[in-house]
Amino acid sequence: MNSLIKKYNVPGPRYTSYPTVPFWKNEQLSSDEWLLSIQRNLDFFQTNKVSIYIHLPFCESLCTFCGCHKRITKNHQVEKPYIDSLIEEWNLYQEKFDFEISEIHLGGGTPTFFKASELKRLIENITKNSKLNSSEIEFSFEAHPNNTTKEHLETLYNLGFKRLSFGVQDYNETVQKAINRIQSIEQVTDVHLLAKNIGYKSISHDLVFGLPKQQIEGFKKTVLETINLKPERVSLYSYAHVPWIKGNGQRGFEDSDLPDNEEKRGLYEMAKDLFLAAGYIEIGMDHFALPEDDLAVAFKNKSLHRNFMGYTTQKTNLLIGLGVSSISDSWFCFAQNNKSVEEYQDIVSKGEIPVFRGHLLNTEDLILRKCILDLMCHFETTFPKDEALKNQIIQNLQELIADNLVQIDENKISVPENGIPFIRNICMAFDTYLATNKTEKQLFSKTI
Ligand code: SF4
Repeated sequence: MNSLIKKYNVPGPRYTSYPTVPFWKNEQLSSDEWLLSIQRNLDFFQTNKVSIYIHLPFCESLCTFCGCHKRITKNHQVEKPYIDSLIEEWNLYQEKFDFEISEIHLGGGTPTFFKASELKRLIENITKNSKLNSSEIEFSFEAHPNNTTKEHLETLYNLGFKRLSFGVQDYNETVQKAINRIQSIEQVTDVHLLAKNIGYKSISHDLVFGLPKQQIEGFKKTVLETINLKPERVSLYSYAHVPWIKGNGQRGFEDSDLPDNEEKRGLYEMAKDLFLAAGYIEIGMDHFALPEDDLAVAFKNKSLHRNFMGYTTQKTNLLIGLGVSSISDSWFCFAQNNKSVEEYQDIVSKGEIPVFRGHLLNTEDLILRKCILDLMCHFETTFPKDEALKNQIIQNLQELIADNLVQIDENKISVPENGIPFIRNICMAFDTYLATNKTEKQLFSKTI
């Protein structure tokens, strides 16, 4: 196993989209192109159901492992104008389309940076034209254990939220200092139990392995504490060290503080074994869930989906991202909103959809996107019908086949248990853009 890790631990995408963002072709996607792709989606899928992702970018302090798009501030005057812009942005879509909202997810940044009353105003305005009542919409949000209050939990629960995820990362104090994210087990336990008592039916804990100063014994305690609280879902993310992309935000520690390849894989394997022994099911690449949770059910019945937020039970083919830097997906096109808070707000105030770049998928993109999505979600797929493309993929897979990490049976490709840690490498065999990368710049974190 160690030699395989050494061999395959190369820079590679996490495939939250295909093509991946560095290979998007439409650097200046117009809002008209984006809106036309939504109409194409509605005509093709014959449904007006939509999932909404809302990006709430503000955080009070910087965690030095963070790869999210955020703005650090303690100034809470930013709340009201930002919520106003989100509502305005949604109204721009509503003027053009008659959507039925299926899901709303609040991500960040830190959604709980905002006062409960502002989040309430946001949700009430977004859903005010919805024909469905709140129990028919799936609501979820990301909660920071340090600033999620009883008022947040009660207000959002009463609006229809039944799912939330807590960013836990690691309970070890040395690691917490290295990543500038101090939160005790007691704090997390209190807010977790509060959410349970209020009635939240699915709570997720997000852990990160591969962090600076992380060691097997310390991380084992974090995993055992997590199992003790029995959240319905656990995300076990690999720390993506990309300081050349994220700049000083990932420079609060030395590279030598990071575990090496083998230690990092050891952290994952230890955590995985403990979660499986505690009754969790491994889902996709980095998620675990109790068998009765919707994510585990979706994995079993092969309806799991993967998008920019990771694995979801998303039941729509259209995702509208609202807010600064949010990415939308009409299946035929990806579109990203402006990344500057000021510019985003300015564009929306002029009555314009704030997309600034994206990618219109061609026929080959759509075929390969489906293959990669199948592999990431179900660990199997079928070859494209195009013989030349199929042969190219088979050629790209040769070493993985020889190492018994992937199996081919006529038209079907499946990933055995021991191939799962290498799923990103397997998907790379389907990625025709990687070979076109002529830049010396490293675009992705390492795969394992
Ligand atoms: S990890 Fe979360 S809370 Fe920390 S800086 Fe990033 S977005 Fe903000």
